[in-house]
Amino acid sequence: MKITDAKVFVGGPKKNYVTLKIITDQGVYGLGDATLNNRETLPAKYLQDFLIPNLIGMDPRNSEDIWQFLYRGAYFRGGPIAMAAYGAIDMALWDIKGKLANMPLYQLFGGKSRDGAMVYAHATGADLEDLMDSIAQYVEEGYKAIRVQCGIPGMPTASYAVPEKKGSAQNYITDYTGIRPKVEIWDTDKYMRYMPGALAEIRDRFGPDVHILHDVHHRLLPREAAEFAKAVEPVRLFWMEDPTPAENQDALRLIRQHSTTPIAIGEVFNSIWDCNKLIENELIDFIRLAATYAGGITPLKRIVDLAGLHNVRTGFHGAPSHSPISMAAQHHLNAWAPNFGVQEYLVLGTPECDALFPSEHRMENGMVYVSDAPGLGVDFDEAEAARYTYAPGSHPVVRLEDGTMWNY
Ligand SMILES: [Mg+2]
Repeated sequence: MKITDAKVFVGGPKKNYVTLKIITDQGVYGLGDATLNNRETLPAKYLQDFLIPNLIGMDPRNSEDIWQFLYRGAYFRGGPIAMAAYGAIDMALWDIKGKLANMPLYQLFGGKSRDGAMVYAHATGADLEDLMDSIAQYVEEGYKAIRVQCGIPGMPTASYAVPEKKGSAQNYITDYTGIRPKVEIWDTDKYMRYMPGALAEIRDRFGPDVHILHDVHHRLLPREAAEFAKAVEPVRLFWMEDPTPAENQDALRLIRQHSTTPIAIGEVFNSIWDCNKLIENELIDFIRLAATYAGGITPLKRIVDLAGLHNVRTGFHGAPSHSPISMAAQHHLNAWAPNFGVQEYLVLGTPECDALFPSEHRMENGMVYVSDAPGLGVDFDEAEAARYTYAPGSHPVVRLEDGTMWNY
């Protein structure tokens, strides 16, 4: 069996999905997602110019050897552009494998460990009252877990994932007017003074049964993050996400030594080497890589297995930058993983998105139920894809009030 061709498509409904289709000599094809948010043309170019010409003639069933060929063979290893491109190839090869076996992927991983996988929604508000309305709506819709972000009084601009105006419920952060980013102004002191009390009010209002998550989005230094984690302990968060940048994995020790608030990290990681110390030293509670940026199902499954040895549960990234193809890869991993925690899930199910990526994966009452179709269980309509083109976008950058660059 041989790979005979592969094509890359960039575009989608209000999104620049990078979709890879690998075609074989036996008529079976596989699909993968290489979408690298706001840098979408780069993995597409890497696929077209270097990777696809090497794939032609290879046996698509040898997905492990092909992954090793891509990763070890590159010499300059890793990085988000390369790993997103490898991720798309790996997903497509698993899709082919599942179709050849006539089985959904979760069966090839070891079968189902659960019927449905809990997801979390994103509630947001320009202020706390606005956020409360947004949370109430998700509770009404049956969500069991909700990430909460709100505007901070006195903060010069709206902060991460928060709308500028009340009631706008703006959730999508990418600005498609061009590649020059908007600037958000950040003030750690105002955040530290306000947010723990706001989280406590949310817990009081919605009671003990709703899982509350909060994303600090890398804004705090390790010592500040330890103080914050300790202050919010009575709220019993499901998790505190990205409290501090984790390039320095040892920095997490300080937070861990001072607090029992669960910590979730990893959405910007690209490999097991970005998180092995965090996992082995049990410095986090949830690992957040995505099938795309981690380089596909093959390496992500290894990370999940390592995490399982150390009481670390999964909480895969699921921002709108992931197409229904990589979300499907994660639905299958979530159905199987014995150490599943939660899945980030932003509703992508617009009629346009469903027409482009037909599937029978379904969401109900805050749970995702995986499709039993062979492979990934998602298709791609090329005629629909022809309606879309690439639209350059950007996410904000962050500065302190004196102009100093800070972490987005
Ligand atoms: Mg996040």
